[in-house]
Amino acid sequence: AGGAAAPPPRQCKLDPKSELRVEVPPDAPLRVRLVAGTAEIFGTELPPEGWVPIPPRSKIAIFTWHGATLELDGVTESEYPSEETPMVVYVNTHAILDARRARARAAAAQGGDLEASQGPRVIVAGPTDSGKSTLCKMLLSWAAKLGWKPTYVDLDIGQGSITIPGCISATPIEKPIDIVDGIPLEMPLVYFYGHPTPSINPDVYKVLMKELAKTLERQFSGNAESRAAGMVINTMGWVEGLGYELLLNAIETYKANVLLVLGQEKLWKMLKDAVQSKPNIDVVKLQKSEGVVLRNSKYRQKTRSFRIKEYFYGIANDLAPHSNIVNFSDVSVYRIGGGHQAPRSALPIGAEPVADPTRLVAVNISTDMIHTVLAISYAKEPDEIISSNVAGFIHVTDVDIQRKKLTYIAPCPGDLPSRLLIASSLTWYEA
Ligand code: ATP
Repeated sequence: AGGAAAPPPRQCKLDPKSELRVEVPPDAPLRVRLVAGTAEIFGTELPPEGWVPIPPRSKIAIFTWHGATLELDGVTESEYPSEETPMVVYVNTHAILDARRARARAAAAQGGDLEASQGPRVIVAGPTDSGKSTLCKMLLSWAAKLGWKPTYVDLDIGQGSITIPGCISATPIEKPIDIVDGIPLEMPLVYFYGHPTPSINPDVYKVLMKELAKTLERQFSGNAESRAAGMVINTMGWVEGLGYELLLNAIETYKANVLLVLGQEKLWKMLKDAVQSKPNIDVVKLQKSEGVVLRNSKYRQKTRSFRIKEYFYGIANDLAPHSNIVNFSDVSVYRIGGGHQAPRSALPIGAEPVADPTRLVAVNISTDMIHTVLAISYAKEPDEIISSNVAGFIHVTDVDIQRKKLTYIAPCPGDLPSRLLIASSLTWYEA
């Protein structure tokens, strides 16, 4: 990039309990190799030999418990070692969760009730850039390494780590999260909200949280193993006002029994007070890592857009999406939550406008939809859309009003799995 010559491969020796923090540029590849010792990236061990490609734009820490020598090949925006990490505290937290899982499994084997056989339901909370997603990844990977299959629930519609932004989703984690491929996408359960912030329609956000929780409860009730492994739940970085209210809502909806609060004393105190009447919830304050990279709103907007692109083109830009054309009459597009209330002038004097915020509104296909993302609902009937998860997404590339045809790209070839589509405010522009 910029014509700068890539530095030659270089070695770096890390002391025990230290990490190398690396930022990868958007357009130059970096690869890493373990030369001696052992090391892990956010809970997933580096293989003992061979180069590991680090995806562009990654900001990572390569941590070692017992010391390691690494080799780096390629360009970085920054690379520096640090000995100050909260990893010991994090791994101790993991050990406590692990003991609870073992207890739940033992209770299940002895025919214990649903309560006793329930493993930890962990909510990770904290302001933006406190390292929530990263802590979730570590807790999940460490648990998976011991053979547990915990469920990862991501409620962060702004910077989601399971699928594109604007979704809340869940997926079982059966092995440590792959350094290159990220969270496995074989069977995520995805509910589509369609906007990167909950304030546009918090009621819909709450309804979708509830729907996802209902589905998970159903799965857990028939699966003692995943019930004992429990959940790790990632939340939004918005922890004030409505954001805080939604966090409380999430704690209740998912029956969380462990709250890990990163990097903010005030939030920890508030949550502690809020749940003090409930004896079975532990509220734990955890130090945030200085390595967490701060991201401003422009950067966040950009990552959102990259996440959408990745869905269609692959992480390494190695997939070719399929372009398709449908007639307007072949699909029905809906928006969840009208947002359009009856104007006051149309109401009897003194009456307050009431609108069902979760109402389904049929949307006419228009050129406004170009560049937006539509979700494909699993619903059989329109009135099931809000309670149904989605099969995937398409990106609208053209709308021809005259010929009544919509052109889109999808990651897979073939017909759409359903004709019911959900509109969104998520856009991505092919640069
Ligand atoms: P948000 O609420 O905005 O989603 P978050 O609290 O979930 O943020 P993370 O996504 O976990 O924060 O971390 C922000 C960025 O910092 C990520 O790119 C992550 O990979 C990076 N990061 C986290 N910990 C470290 C570390 N120790 N060294 C280097 N980079 C790190």
